Amino acid sequence: MSCCDRGQLRSVDAMLDELLNKAIPVKDSLPILVVDALGKILAEDVISGIDVPPHDNSAMDGYAVNLNDCQTDSAVTLPISQRIPAGSVPQALQPGTAARIFTGATIPENATAVIMQEDCSEQDGQVTLPAGIKLDQNIRPQGQDIKTSSTILQKGHHVRAQDMGLMASIGIAEVKAYRPLKVAILSTGDELIEPGQSISEGQIFNSNRYTLQGFLKGLGFEILDLGIVEDTLDATLKALTNAAESADVIITSGGVSVGEEDHVKAAIDQLGELNLWKLAIKPGKPFAYGKVANTPIMGLPGNPGAVFVTFCILARPFLLKSQGAASVKAHSFKLPIGFSLKKPGKRREYLRTRINYENGEAFIENHPNQSSGVLSSASWADGLAIITENTAPQKGELVEFSPFSELFGNS
Ligand code: AMP
Ligand code: MG
Repeated sequence: MSCCDRGQLRSVDAMLDELLNKAIPVKDSLPILVVDALGKILAEDVISGIDVPPHDNSAMDGYAVNLNDCQTDSAVTLPISQRIPAGSVPQALQPGTAARIFTGATIPENATAVIMQEDCSEQDGQVTLPAGIKLDQNIRPQGQDIKTSSTILQKGHHVRAQDMGLMASIGIAEVKAYRPLKVAILSTGDELIEPGQSISEGQIFNSNRYTLQGFLKGLGFEILDLGIVEDTLDATLKALTNAAESADVIITSGGVSVGEEDHVKAAIDQLGELNLWKLAIKPGKPFAYGKVANTPIMGLPGNPGAVFVTFCILARPFLLKSQGAASVKAHSFKLPIGFSLKKPGKRREYLRTRINYENGEAFIENHPNQSSGVLSSASWADGLAIITENTAPQKGELVEFSPFSELFGNS
């Protein structure tokens, strides 16, 4: 058990650094089929045992020739000595002849160029080739894509569609990936009921559970969903103990502010180690990090807009690092804003925004409702604009924008 940091606002950067320092990557790996590898994190370097392509091959349907049999300044006619479709094994090119060849077919020994069929004319077993043929033209060299013994993907790489294709291209059907992280989620709040139930006065539907389910599914984690936990210390202690027994990481929503109905902090404090920060982030000021027994826990705020932002900015990189990913920070780029901030704030603000266009130029459009309790602006948006602490950028100024494709994916 340790004491909590209840002091001044902590910066997002300092918080993120600390979280990433504390994240311990999962160690266990398992063999998976390359066909099932999408979204997984590789637990080994993938090294090629072959050259890709394995032979010089033709980039065109056309005719393979030796440059010695061609003229640089005039057309030449040669007899056709063989036909080489893709997948066949050619014979060496006979001197003074051309070979009919097709895209992807192995270049015969002695051939030094391929001329595309559109530039040739074939008649009675002979082909007339144009002038100006160049050495190696339309020949894709052996190993052009991948060389034997080269590392094609590194440990910690997040597998995307093209990586599945790349692994297949070197002939492997299986690869080692880290086992999926098991993440427990629980939603605190006596006011919560589940969608599908009828709502009574004073109740609201549990939306955070669904946002978190969506995030975690998108990242490929296993989810232990402990549902709604009532606002008592006892229930919170039980739920957290249960979660810590079988999950790698616990994420809670709500119950981390200072009210007497907020029991998450006290429960973490009793069961392990609590570090609570008032973060310089908007939305999402209260954020708890700690351990229940030995299991890391992140206590997100209750407000749905704040859950959305704190998950993207803090929980996601922590989870990715814990999953063994080598690269966890989301990219952002600068775009002009189509609005003006009224005054500088002490907290870094993540605005739910989207890209719009005026006269073909992209700009960031702001949603008018940035309340931490509001989720519709997150659904409207396609990224977060990042307003640095103590700045109030005006219309036309450049501001960092991180698209949701960066914040939701695990690349
Ligand atoms: P809390 O931090 O528990 O005081 O919650 C802050 C605000 O978020 C309150 O208005 C809660 O009703 C709301 N809230 C908490 N949990 C959820 C949830 N799972 N789904 C929707 N709203 C929630
Ligand atoms: Mg609550």
